[in-house]
Amino acid sequence: MIEEYYRPESLPEAVVIIKQKGRSGRILAGGTTLKKWSEQTAAVIDLQALGLSQIEYRAKEMALGATLTLANMAAIPTLPSALQIAIKLQASYNQRQSATVVGSLLSADGRSTFATAMLALNARLVLFPPQKDLCYSDILALGNEVIEGQIVTAVVIPTKIKFAFHSVARTPNDLPLVCIALARWDSGRIRLAAGGWGKVPLLVLDGIGAQEVSLAVRSTFSRAGDEWASAEYRTDVAGVLAKRCLDDLDSPADS
Ligand SMILES: Cc1cc2nc3c(=O)[nH]c(=O)nc-3n(C[C@H](O)[C@H](O)[C@H](O)COP(=O)(O)OP(=O)(O)OC[C@H]3O[C@@H](n4cnc5c(N)ncnc54)[C@H](O)[C@@H]3O)c2cc1C
Repeated sequence: MIEEYYRPESLPEAVVIIKQKGRSGRILAGGTTLKKWSEQTAAVIDLQALGLSQIEYRAKEMALGATLTLANMAAIPTLPSALQIAIKLQASYNQRQSATVVGSLLSADGRSTFATAMLALNARLVLFPPQKDLCYSDILALGNEVIEGQIVTAVVIPTKIKFAFHSVARTPNDLPLVCIALARWDSGRIRLAAGGWGKVPLLVLDGIGAQEVSLAVRSTFSRAGDEWASAEYRTDVAGVLAKRCLDDLDSPADS
């Protein structure tokens, strides 16, 4: 049961409280997952007074403040339209007004369209107290425990890329049964991530050249059966979606 509420006004102050409270404390961002963990949490540390909602544009990347809402991220005019779609499929209109970029990444499961997109983009998390940025793929592999006692202050994503995203679900706004996100850098580097089942989205490919994409996607989904869809179905659909993503990257649209 939540008995204490803190709204620190600086990052050092926030970290002191987080360390003091240990496992009984929890960082509060948009608060949309609060119901899930409020029973085991005695204190919440609200980030809203820290001014972490800014967007910083750099030469080849942008840093999105941790508490930027999904709605405000989707409204960035230069964002690839495919990324805007992945954000909109992550949560309903109302949830997007309060759910934050970092809260969404740290509470994502395998059906998260946003996490799948950010994995393909090789998003990096900026931490406080400062240390080397952490790749989002490392968090997905190792779990949120690796950042215990720290605050994620921003997420950095590349801007000089082409990006494509496709998904299939039972209804247009439902969580995906399969989703594929593909990013391509000017160097020819390609990163493809897949979601739609399991605990976290998976990185299927990170390399040069598109020849391996279809094979890699199909083998990733070969065991992806659950109560929502069979592995055979997901394998077939994933192959089609990966091909659509590749076609999009070669089209002159705004990706
Ligand atoms: C009804 C409902 C259904 C949903 N279904 C799905 C689903 O099926 N799949 C899916 O992937 N998502 C699902 N979501 C998740 C949704 O996308 C998240 O609720 C939301 O995006 C979390 O963002 P938030 O800002 O509210 O985070 P919060 O709820 O405030 O926090 C989420 C977690 O991240 C930690 N955290 C937040 N910010 C920071 C930070 N800056 N530094 C360190 N730790 C931090 C918090 O301590 C907490 O553990 C669902 C949500 C709702 C309400």
